[in-house]
Formats: sequence, C-alpha cells, structure tokens
Amino acid sequence: MTPSPPPGAPSTAAPPRSRRLDALRGGPEVPQRPLDARALSALAANPGCRRRALLDGAGVDKAAVAQALGAPAPFGQSQFAFVRGNAFEARVKADGGEALLALLCESTGEERPEPSAVLVPDLTADGPAGRAARTGLALAEVPAGQWALLDHPLLTLEVAGATAYLEPDALAVHPDGGVTVIEIKSFPVLDGTVDPTKAGGAARQAAVYALALTGSVPVREQALLVCPKDFGNQPAGGLLDLRKPLAACRRQLARLTDLDAIADLLPEGAHFGTEQDRAALTAAVESVPAAYAPECLATCELAFHCRERAREAGAVEALGRSVRGELGGLRTVHEVLAAARADADDPAARDPAAEALRRAAALRAEALATAAPAPAQAGTPAPPAGGGTEGGLACR
Ligand code: SF4
Repeated sequence: MTPSPPPGAPSTAAPPRSRRLDALRGGPEVPQRPLDARALSALAANPGCRRRALLDGAGVDKAAVAQALGAPAPFGQSQFAFVRGNAFEARVKADGGEALLALLCESTGEERPEPSAVLVPDLTADGPAGRAARTGLALAEVPAGQWALLDHPLLTLEVAGATAYLEPDALAVHPDGGVTVIEIKSFPVLDGTVDPTKAGGAARQAAVYALALTGSVPVREQALLVCPKDFGNQPAGGLLDLRKPLAACRRQLARLTDLDAIADLLPEGAHFGTEQDRAALTAAVESVPAAYAPECLATCELAFHCRERAREAGAVEALGRSVRGELGGLRTVHEVLAAARADADDPAARDPAAEALRRAAALRAEALATAAPAPAQAGTPAPPAGGGTEGGLACR
C-alpha cells in the first residue's frame, strides 16, 4: 500500500513507486509508454521474463532501448497488413454488425437477433477517460433481454499502479446480460483451422479485455475470433477458450505489482535511459534476468539483443521451448554436445537425455558417411551439382 503523504506535503509529489519508475526510464521527462492489450498479452506469453516485466511496468520504450543497444528488431504489422486488417474489420462490422452477431450466434447456438433489435450505442467522448466512462455507461444501460454491440469500446485496467486503456474490436451483450469479447484478425482460417500460435496470441489478447471487464459485467469465458476465410473477404468465426490465458494474465499482472523486487536487481543508479552510453545501458538491461525463447521474435522489441546473448551463453532455451523440454537437466549447448559424445560411464552421460543424444549423434554420423562422395574413379561420372543420395538430402 502507498503510504499517505505527511501533513503539509505538496499534493503533486509523485508517490515513491512512481518516482522509481520515472528514474528507471531515465528521468520524469522521459514519457511513459502506456501498456496496451498486445503488450499485456505478450507479457502473459513469457511469464518467466523479469526483464520484460520491469521494462513494460516502468513504461520504458523497448524499441528505443533495442535501437540504442545496436539490436533493433523489425517489429509490428506491415502497412499492407494494417490496411488489409482495417478493411476486413470495416466489412464485418457493416450494417450494424449483422455479420458479427450471426457468427456469434452460429458459434453459441443462440437465436440470431433481427438487426433492428440490436442496440449499437454511440461511444464517442472526449479523451480516453471520457470514452472509458461512456463505455461503462453503455454497458450498464443495456436493458435485460436485449442484444447490444459495442464497436471499439474503451476499457481500463489498473496495471502496476497506472491505468492502461484497452480497446477491443467489439463487445457483444447477450440477452442474458453476458458479455462476449470479439477479436477481429486479418490472418486467415484455412480449411477451418487457424495457425495455433496466432490463435493463442488472439486468445491472450481477448483474455486481457475479459480481465478488464471482470467485476463490472458478467463476461463470458469464451471470446469470438473472426478471421477471413481462405484468404478471401468472407468472415469465419469460432470461439476461443479464455480460461487458461485468463489465469496466465492474472498471474503476470499480479507479478507486475511486485516491480520493486525486480528493480532491486539493478545496481544503484542504473536505469534504461537511452541517452547514456551503450555500455552502461547494456549493463542495466543485462542485470535483469531474461527468459529468451524464439517466440520472443514475434512479440518483443528486445528479441535480437536477447537472442544474441542467449546464443553467446549457449543457452538451450534459444532452440525453443520444446527442445528445452526434451533436454531435461542439460542447460547449455556445450553440455548437450558433451553428453552426445560421452561414453556411458562419463558423468556427462548420466542425464536421461544423453542416451537419446548419443543415438541421434550416431544416426547423423551414419547418414553423413552414407552421403560422403565415393572416391573418384576413372570413368565414374561426377554427381550432379546440388544433388546426392537420399541420405545426403535428409541430412541437409
Ligand atoms: S526478448 Fe528478451 S526481454 Fe523480450 S520477452 Fe524475450 S527474453 Fe524477455
């Protein structure tokens, strides 16, 4: 809990937490990057990363930090994807969202409402706080038994002592008062299936919105995901289960309230301001533990820097979470290679993964030997360029 200021203290004084977060950004004059649903869902995707938790919690501009570290990562949607996404969203929301509600009812088994019976409240207001208040009022005013569709409502969520403003694509209020979060994405549904990584990201994002609604309305634990069907413009919809991502988001947000403990890992006076020299910034960033995984490349601006460090350290995490899981207690590529080479009596070979590694190493050696070109003999034609035996191709 933040202590009350002493009597007579200036009311404008920032609380200690806020001053500390200002200092982490490099001073109160460095603007705080607001957290949005994408950032919060990315946090939930990598709950083990204290580096990201601290940088996001303090509102540090990670793209600027990556640039100052000399490892900028191309990040975010391309302009083309952005325009295409907006056009698709406008299309599915046309005619008062008739198509959206049809997809929702198809997914939930509810009776489709007549378009004239759906409330579509006006949510315009001045500033984010005004828009959020207008959204809250609109949700409270939907009469029982009535369908309503809220287009680009604005929700609030308290994160690490600051208010984050979150904007779902839409919310549907059902006649029973339940509220469904609707996410409209431009990635396609191909033959009825969606890329699981992208669907996971959409579910985490929807879970952040559901969390923001929790306590004010009965939010449903399934969100509607709407995507273009087979690269066309026709929308397809399906329900995303939010229970697991909701639990992950809750855990991660609870952790953000403990930023002071993470900030204590920094040496005295260290901060993430991009005006300082690169060595000092690098030292500050690296004093907070990270948990690099290849998935970071799609979700975090610091991915190139963290990947480089993970590779330098030979960390097996850089190979992916599934590979990491298979390798048991082996933590570095060096240990993995030692286990693959060691004979059964060597201590390096005691890990349960070692036997599988030795078998894989033997198979690789056998395949390479099969693929090795036979010694040239007079009259024997040379193998075609880029060709080789089946084993050789498999090895590559
Ligand atoms: S890129 Fe680095 S800071 Fe970002 S989530 Fe991954 S490990 Fe954490």
